[in-house]
Amino acid sequence: MRSASICLLLGCIDVEKKVVHLQLFGHCLFMDGKRIEYRGEEALKEIERMTIMPDEIQKDTLKKILTKNGETEYLKKYMGVSRDISDFKSYVPVVTYKSFRPYIQRIMNGEDSSLLTGDPITEMLSSSGTSGGEPKLVPSIAEDLNRRTFFYNLILPIINQYVPGLDDGKAMCLYFVRTERSAPCGLPIRSVLTGYYKSKHFKCRVRIPFHDDTSPDPVILCNDINQSMYCQLLAGLVHRQQVCRLGAIFASAFLRSVSFLEQNWVNFCDDIRTGTLDPSITDPECRSSMMAILSFPNPTLAKEVEEICGQTSWKGILWRLWPRAKYIDAVLTGSMAQYIPALEFYTEGKIPLVSTMYASSECYFGVNLKPFCAPEDVSYTLVPNMGFFEFIPLGENGTLVMDIGKDEEVPKRKLVDLAKVKVGCYYELVVTNFSGLYRYRMGDVLQVTGFHNRAPQFRFICRRSVVLSVDSDKTSEEDLHKSVTVAKKLLEPYDALLAEYTTYADTSSLPGHYVLFWEIVYHNLVTQVDASVLQECCIAVEEKLDYVYRRCRTYDKSVGPLEIRVVKSGTFLALMDLFISQGGSISQYKTPRCITSASALELLNANVEASFFSPRYPTWINAVQF
Ligand code: AMP
Repeated sequence: MRSASICLLLGCIDVEKKVVHLQLFGHCLFMDGKRIEYRGEEALKEIERMTIMPDEIQKDTLKKILTKNGETEYLKKYMGVSRDISDFKSYVPVVTYKSFRPYIQRIMNGEDSSLLTGDPITEMLSSSGTSGGEPKLVPSIAEDLNRRTFFYNLILPIINQYVPGLDDGKAMCLYFVRTERSAPCGLPIRSVLTGYYKSKHFKCRVRIPFHDDTSPDPVILCNDINQSMYCQLLAGLVHRQQVCRLGAIFASAFLRSVSFLEQNWVNFCDDIRTGTLDPSITDPECRSSMMAILSFPNPTLAKEVEEICGQTSWKGILWRLWPRAKYIDAVLTGSMAQYIPALEFYTEGKIPLVSTMYASSECYFGVNLKPFCAPEDVSYTLVPNMGFFEFIPLGENGTLVMDIGKDEEVPKRKLVDLAKVKVGCYYELVVTNFSGLYRYRMGDVLQVTGFHNRAPQFRFICRRSVVLSVDSDKTSEEDLHKSVTVAKKLLEPYDALLAEYTTYADTSSLPGHYVLFWEIVYHNLVTQVDASVLQECCIAVEEKLDYVYRRCRTYDKSVGPLEIRVVKSGTFLALMDLFISQGGSISQYKTPRCITSASALELLNANVEASFFSPRYPTWINAVQF
């Protein structure tokens, strides 16, 4: 066997076999006290090993969590000195964020991490879920970065089984960070991805094979999302003939970048043609890293891009611009499924769409072992050493029954272990992680579709009680109702009343936006509500929606202005007739607060009398109350 290896600071690459041992600053990556020596084929073997014995690995994972965190105030309260799995299952309650919030607030205010975790908390992750209108903050420990790296490293070997040769090209993966803040105790508060991209794990990721990204790191790390997007797309265009995969974390972010490209391609062509960078890019690190890429004027490439982008239809633009792209990696399940048609339009069906992973701030959960299946058939296999997973049953034989309320106490005996879930059944996922969440209800509803070896595979069904979502916003029926209740008061001075309403997320244009269908009744026929009042109703709804919605709208600009479409009198009766004609029960009929069926949407749109948009951005400040 050939022994000549090039040892880099970043990793050891055996030139002949192109296998990589992940090393960070000369040290191997450790997880749960075990050294992870990672190689492409070894990742696949590891998946096989873990899926053959998920039950044993789950028990082992829970034991490790209890050993590490047994001394915490939280666990001692329920388990005393015990570290037994059976005591954990008997005494630790199944809870929502509300139960952890007081502990997290105390830690934010300077109390010790040992309230929740054995290891010091290193960052607070702000998730896209909210509680009481504020983003949920989730503790994270240093070792979580190793765990996330381990998880990410499983993905490409899986894909490489189906599409070899990925290491011969570059990846245009559009990654973005958000600005971070500090808690009173000094801990950084940031999104899980921001934490990851700023870590040495990301900085020192092994670049060969697989990780030859088109975007230079300083561009990814730029806090200004517009400058970052500009530079990432420009770098992707410069390397267009070498790009073999495209992606972003979520489909919404990928499509947003496509629409940014649509608005800026003329500038991109100018930059490429002249070998200079648009003056709107002012961030010094972005400028210097991009100037290394735009090292010479390239009129030939500029002309190619111009010819492609200048066509009247953008159908198939993605394969035309990136002809060697073998797939697009972005989450397309759950609320992201609404973006499949747009992506199919831009790819013309010529670049496969791949949803590779299911993850959250709380824990990284599962990988898609059949990445090239149709987007609607995607299932995720939960990786059993990432956390301890339990399941609240929500119905069998394809019937989903949400009989346990969102905040209701769940009887502990109801919970089912990972290895005991049944095909066809629905469950809400409950997670116990290494960093201080115990039997925490994720709110995600999953359905078991089958098994890989003995490990169950899950289809992501929905986020519990979320009715509207365009990007990372997640609006529940309750939030929607509260917002509409405030807004409809603005109609009262005009003797007008909101008789009925429903909504849908319109993603037919980018960025997507919320649409509210309103049926208004007047007490007298003389007065009419004028346009400015209905515009004020739009902004009143937005002002009352939660922090993440307002951030997406005002800061990220990933959600467009909210729209109210006023429908003719009698429209909601016609809607009821439609649902009943499709088999609904008249006595149980309730107006759905979110419309997904095409026929219902067609009916509503056919009855629109006028539409109004929010006239300004809702208030949003980058601060969370502690
Ligand atoms: P966050 O808390 O902001 O990290 O968001 C995590 C949530 O995003 C999960 O709990 C899911 O509701 C959703 N999510 C993450 N990955 C996927 C996926 N592959 N498919 C559908 N939804 C997902």
